Amino acid sequence: MLKIHPKSVTSESPAKADLSWQDRGACKGPCQAIFFPPARLERRTDRRLREARAKEICQTCSVQEKCLTYAMDISEQHGIWGGLTARERRALRSSRSKR
Ligand code: SF4
Repeated sequence: MLKIHPKSVTSESPAKADLSWQDRGACKGPCQAIFFPPARLERRTDRRLREARAKEICQTCSVQEKCLTYAMDISEQHGIWGGLTARERRALRSSRSKR
């Protein structure tokens, strides 16, 4: 199962890109849900715990760099990719643009 959040799939998404690395993601499987916020309202403390758990999984992942690059390339707005939250990726993008 690919870790493509439904909201990230557009007609212009890099669907034609090689996404086979996603098959090797440590998040593949039932734990995948913790990488995205739930549909219901989530308390701040719950969000922090969920994100911390997801990031721990990312730290063990063999495709972390590819995952982060992909999320940055498509400006993914949701979820944790490559060990970073959407907010952290925006900050990274901003810091890179200032160089
Ligand atoms: S880096 Fe994290 S989000 Fe990306 S594939 Fe690996 S475990 Fe999943």
